[in-house]
Amino acid sequence: MPDPPPRMRETVLQRDDYCCLGCGADVRTTRWYSLQHRRARGTGGWNDLTNLITLCGSATTGCHWVCEQRAADAHARGLWLYSWQDPAKTPVVLPGGAAVYLTAAGGYQAA
Ligand SMILES: [Zn+2]
Repeated sequence: MPDPPPRMRETVLQRDDYCCLGCGADVRTTRWYSLQHRRARGTGGWNDLTNLITLCGSATTGCHWVCEQRAADAHARGLWLYSWQDPAKTPVVLPGGAAVYLTAAGGYQAA
């Protein structure tokens, strides 16, 4: 599967207010950030606004790395999911503590 198209990437960044959903860092001021597929592409995840989140770092650094390690606390916050979990029905706990669903339209909905 190709990377998310530029317009979708921009929608994800705007929705997340250009902040890492793991730690809240402003990715406009951090050198590295990436879009995470909550449900991995290799396990049936897709390019979809319910499945993509902004994380600082890369596959080897920052919060993206934490998710690549499949850390339990990151999983509990919905930052990465198992293949059988539906991203649209699994909330994300934001850095401030609010739990939200990511909508297909590119917004947050209170969980
Ligand atoms: Zn982070």
